[in-house]
Amino acid sequence: MSEQEHGSSKKVFVKTFGCQMNVYDSDKITALLSKDGYTATQDLEDADLIVVNTCSVREKPEQKLRSFIGEMAPHRSRGAKVGIAGCMAQHAGADLFKQYRGQVDLVFGPDHVPNVREIVGQVEKGQRVLANSFLDNTQYAFVREVVTDGKAGAFVTIQKGCDNKCTFCIVPATRGVELSRPNAEILEEVRAVVATGVREITLIGQNVNSYGLKVPGELTFAQLLYKVAEVPGVERIRYTTSHPRDMGDDVIQAYRDLPQLTSHLHLPVQSGSDRMLRRMKRFYNRERYLEVVRQLRDARPDISLSTDIIVGFPGETDADFEDTMSLLEAVRFEGSFSFKYSPRPGTPALRLKDALVSKRDMSERLTRYQKRQQEIQIESNHACEGQTLDVLVEGPSKWDPEVLCGRSSTFKMINFAGPKELVGTIVPVKVLRGFTNSLRGELALGVDTSS
Ligand code: SF4
Repeated sequence: MSEQEHGSSKKVFVKTFGCQMNVYDSDKITALLSKDGYTATQDLEDADLIVVNTCSVREKPEQKLRSFIGEMAPHRSRGAKVGIAGCMAQHAGADLFKQYRGQVDLVFGPDHVPNVREIVGQVEKGQRVLANSFLDNTQYAFVREVVTDGKAGAFVTIQKGCDNKCTFCIVPATRGVELSRPNAEILEEVRAVVATGVREITLIGQNVNSYGLKVPGELTFAQLLYKVAEVPGVERIRYTTSHPRDMGDDVIQAYRDLPQLTSHLHLPVQSGSDRMLRRMKRFYNRERYLEVVRQLRDARPDISLSTDIIVGFPGETDADFEDTMSLLEAVRFEGSFSFKYSPRPGTPALRLKDALVSKRDMSERLTRYQKRQQEIQIESNHACEGQTLDVLVEGPSKWDPEVLCGRSSTFKMINFAGPKELVGTIVPVKVLRGFTNSLRGELALGVDTSS
């Protein structure tokens, strides 16, 4: 139903902290509420409803939430409703009403995103709503509203939750057990987003490699990749997040068979030390990880790899950290999310208190890791100079609207001059300079820019 039919023009402001799952959920919240006459706004002054989609994975997002809710006080006083969604809402639940007494109207976890219209409807009637129960596969329905905003790429969720118990991770406590979305629904969404002009699909889930394994008759993750590649118009496929333990030969084979599968993989390793990997309950060791990397490079020689690293996990010695540094040299990660270990409430690693690493050691290790990783990244970017890369043009650059920006199959960001009509197409770009986080290039000869 349109806004006019509702006779209202309510505005919703959604602020997102955290991972791609949260970005995806925020988009779905906006899409669902649009059916009840809400339009998205970037202006808090305009907002009738303000939702902050939170993350509990690290400490900073909690601090950010505290200051965000404080800043919302004047808006609530003028009548706007304020809600907390996401992982922190799931985990802290009713405590958030106590912590932010009189400042919050609704609290709902990730499982309740599909019900956001009902929740907001109750809030509009003056109720305070808490929705943070976990829903099982008989109750949970993946949101089917399609959101693309004219972008060249779209996320498509394939699963929710996680059955692993990595000892540092709060996700199993905030997103519940793993549920795989039926492949027919996934393919329907892929077809729908491609029909809007999307060229790149990113399949998302907490542990995509275990997709379908619990459901009799469901496709495996590798089979799903082949099916997505068959959809006309899908030119690129990415996926995240992968667990190295579950990286099967069939997925590696897909890198040989499917040109749509991009030459970049985010494969979180967390540590290069077998002792730390055991304490983290990751269920692979360094050798297995390196074997997966070897197989991937065999299948796709130009593949670039990025990873997640935790430094200072309880009990990490200098020798353990050196194992992480040597793994970095062995793999040469071209991107990395690296953090100091931060204890999260409700995680098993809290019981490892006896062997905490000092803040100073953590900081020194993180600085060393990041410095070396960045050097490798720069070396890799310099090595691209003179090459011509196929670039999916995403839009104008953030820094200069006259310049276009896009990504190579290897996930390198490239800025180059060109007409805006190229947005959403894949064009060859010759790399002129490599910088720390991006490349600069020019359209390769032969691209028709006359349109
Ligand atoms: S695989 Fe481990 S780190 Fe990833 S979401 Fe599951 S428990 Fe967390």
